[in-house]
Amino acid sequence: MSQRQTLCTLQHELIHARYRDVGCAGRNGVRNELRAQRETALALIDPMGYRTAEQMYEGDKWLMSVELGVTLQVLSDYQTLLREWCCQGHSLQQRYADASVNA
Ligand SMILES: [Zn+2]
Repeated sequence: MSQRQTLCTLQHELIHARYRDVGCAGRNGVRNELRAQRETALALIDPMGYRTAEQMYEGDKWLMSVELGVTLQVLSDYQTLLREWCCQGHSLQQRYADASVNA
């Protein structure tokens, strides 16, 4: 397992442990899994780092994931969150501004 895979797996499992998730069967299992995926992406990807990587590598997912130190799955989960954020009427510029204030 690569360092990126190890980091992402540990973060994911820590989130399950924090919520005391048990198993992945049924509707609660699916919901818990989605929550762990989303929170893993938010914990491991810095919005400003994402923006820099996206510009630097022109959206190439593999190169971006290597730059950000995450797996392709975690990058994909983060991009899904960004799409949902935009669909809710928020702008990415505001998200980046919020991230720089909180940094
Ligand atoms: Zn899981």
